[in-house]
Amino acid sequence: MEFRFSAVSASTRRKIQESLFTELAKYLDLFPASKDARIFLKPNLNSNMNALTGNTTDLRVIASVIEFLKAQGYHKISMGEGTNSGFYRNQISVIERLKINELGKYYGVDVLDLNYAETFDIPFENGILAQAAKPVIETDFLINLPKLKMHFEVGITACLKNLMGTLVGQPNKKKTHDSLCKNILNINRVIKPDLHILDAVIAMEGTGPTRGTPIPLNTLLIGTDPYLLDLACAKLAQFEPSQVRLLAEAIHQGLITQKHFEFLGEHPFLAFSKPMQQPKVNPLVGFIHSPKRQKFFLKIRNTAFFNTVCNTDFAQEILFHTGLRQDKFLKDDLKIDKLTLNEKCLPGCVICREYCPVSLELPQAFKTGLEGCIHCMYCYSVCPVEAIDFHGVKGFFEEQEKQYASRIRQNANQG
Ligand code: SF4
Ligand code: SF4
Repeated sequence: MEFRFSAVSASTRRKIQESLFTELAKYLDLFPASKDARIFLKPNLNSNMNALTGNTTDLRVIASVIEFLKAQGYHKISMGEGTNSGFYRNQISVIERLKINELGKYYGVDVLDLNYAETFDIPFENGILAQAAKPVIETDFLINLPKLKMHFEVGITACLKNLMGTLVGQPNKKKTHDSLCKNILNINRVIKPDLHILDAVIAMEGTGPTRGTPIPLNTLLIGTDPYLLDLACAKLAQFEPSQVRLLAEAIHQGLITQKHFEFLGEHPFLAFSKPMQQPKVNPLVGFIHSPKRQKFFLKIRNTAFFNTVCNTDFAQEILFHTGLRQDKFLKDDLKIDKLTLNEKCLPGCVICREYCPVSLELPQAFKTGLEGCIHCMYCYSVCPVEAIDFHGVKGFFEEQEKQYASRIRQNANQG
């Protein structure tokens, strides 16, 4: 089998679009001949943290892929995700919070919450059946759009792990945990995207998937073999693949072979690699989440009593501060009345323009009312001198800002 694999450099909105248009043209033979074909995009929208934190797929990448598909004449494009269990359980729409619905409206693309989709069965370990979302198989062409992050349970989350978001609702996502790595591979045996476009523009290192640190790798990986791309991610991060739990299991099962290693050997994409921090956790989290003990703790965690206790504000704070839970499920939404430009704006600076997913001519577009703005907050987050004033209620975004604002600004200025 011949591998199809590309790695391209991409940092700004314009560069991401140019790189994707050039590179995806080399994969056109894989796309459906009919322009009426249904194309489904599966980004990583694991939590309500925006892409600049390193947590979710960059809206600039999604927008550029949609623009490429439209330029080819495809018009039946949809996208969707089944966000993580906690947000689902708390009835928080991550799709709305990340402005995916606004991006969909902007481009005329349907957006689905896969947590509420019709289902089909996927066989898991120990005779268990898990239900996944039908739209990802009832399509003519499936594009996986994962984010590169460290993950304290499986090592790295990239193409393979991203398909966990196709499982419908909390009850099905919970079924993976019995044998997490094996069940992720089981999902990938059934759901086979036609193409993978991995966002490592701003990856997450350290205690991922949601408490790590954003690190700009300015890279996109494209290919057809998710095992090859995930192995490439380990090499990008300069990790020993056998030390990454999910990859170790794939190697053990013969899904990653010597051919994968040989192909990547001295591949030029290694020029993009950067040593990344391992997903280390504190001893308590490590003890509870060890594959040996997890089944035992999950039995307790999944009882109705424990569920109720864990959902109280007090317990949520304790779980967050001990690291046992990575997310805060804050109920208040972000409400933006408007964003305005103040006198601090630096002459000649266009950093905000490089981040605008819908390519507004910033900062000039502030003068004409930001027509088309999807309220993603990227421009506000990256401005080095706080020249963009926010008017409205920050809600959940305030916590994100507290944790990540300075790092996001620092990364944007380095870029
Ligand atoms: S990033 Fe800030 S300073 Fe730079 S152009 Fe935009 S608003 Fe002005
Ligand atoms: S103007 Fe700012 S908030 Fe609006 S879409 Fe562009 S980057 Fe996002």
